[in-house]
Amino acid sequence: MAKTYNICLLPGDGIGPEIIAEGVKVLDAVGVKYDTAFAYTEALLGGCAIDATGTALPDETLHVAEASDAVLLAAVGGPKWDTTDPAKPRPEQGLLGIRKALGLYTNLRPVQIFAALADASTLKPEIVDGVDMMIVRELTGGLYFGRRERFYDEEGCGTHGAAGQRAYDTLEYREYEVERIARQAFEAARKRRNKVTSVDKANVLETSRMWREIVHRIGAEEYPDVELEDLLVDNTAMQLISRPVDFDVVVTENMFGDILSDEAAQITGSLGMLASASLGDGTALYEPSHGSAPDIAGKGIANPLAQILSVEMMLRYSFNLGEAADDIRRAVTAVLDEGWRTGDIKQADTPADKVVGTVQMGDLVVAHL
Ligand code: NAD
Repeated sequence: MAKTYNICLLPGDGIGPEIIAEGVKVLDAVGVKYDTAFAYTEALLGGCAIDATGTALPDETLHVAEASDAVLLAAVGGPKWDTTDPAKPRPEQGLLGIRKALGLYTNLRPVQIFAALADASTLKPEIVDGVDMMIVRELTGGLYFGRRERFYDEEGCGTHGAAGQRAYDTLEYREYEVERIARQAFEAARKRRNKVTSVDKANVLETSRMWREIVHRIGAEEYPDVELEDLLVDNTAMQLISRPVDFDVVVTENMFGDILSDEAAQITGSLGMLASASLGDGTALYEPSHGSAPDIAGKGIANPLAQILSVEMMLRYSFNLGEAADDIRRAVTAVLDEGWRTGDIKQADTPADKVVGTVQMGDLVVAHL
């Protein structure tokens, strides 16, 4: 009998419900082709959850997510819930809350250039042609979660010793945190081109020196088949835009990853095409990198491809259905090669009859599957 995977659907706000419907359509098509069944349970997250329950992450949603094999999220937020009142709930609390509750310590962000869209990049086509990398960012440690303080320093110090404000943040990692993210990176590399670039600042930071040692130990002991190189973060920032084609998996700590993943995303120039995955040791979460695009919500023109590519990641990383995942990627590539575009990725020379809406784009991908 076909295996059934239970998926928690979180459509969220704005264009969320429109694009997630296309993701489900693609999953259903994969199910038919590969004799696999997907069962869905929809739950509330973000602004819609605030409206219905007063909180961005209702307990019920968390229970459904925890009981599922994977979570497919669209996007949350919108002007309706924008508030500067710290006492009021905000949609993104739902996102942060669910990531924390599911213990998601790894963020995977693929950066891939589809040849048909190469001219959307701000870099020269010959530089971006063939770019296909995966940024693996540690999500729960480092500077963003370290001890921090801001205070008035009465005494001051040194030659500029005047009294004044003083603040610090601490960058701290524990061995197990580096070990587990290193394993995620090596595992991802094995599903790709078998190469990991570990990014640090080992010439300055003690955390980086420890990071480098641990990544090398895990690599040598458990993944001798995967090529490993080290790169300093400042150098990486340059290499990412001068020779992006050479990168396969890039693994790094939280803040470096935050910055480098945005830089790398910009290489593609197409927000509506970028998916991401957040993994821990249990249920993982898959979502587009973009937001809820309230400016185009309800118009049927949102690009569903980032959502569809997040489904591809789900099949690959949560369900080990690599062949089906490859199939989705091939289908998306074929649709783009045929010239089909949603409004956000249309080019100056795209004929009007090749510009399609959300539902048609989903249908085209399904037809290719
Ligand atoms: P956004 O990504 O929603 O939109 C930026 C621009 O890109 C807009 O012009 C939008 O129309 C366009 N765009 C985004 N996705 C698109 C798609 N799939 N197809 C076509 N065009 C698309 O970012 P924003 O405008 O800064 O934020 C809007 C709301 O989304 C805010 O409330 C923000 O907090 C929220 N947000 C949520 C997430 C998330 O859920 N992970 C991420 C970022 C922003």
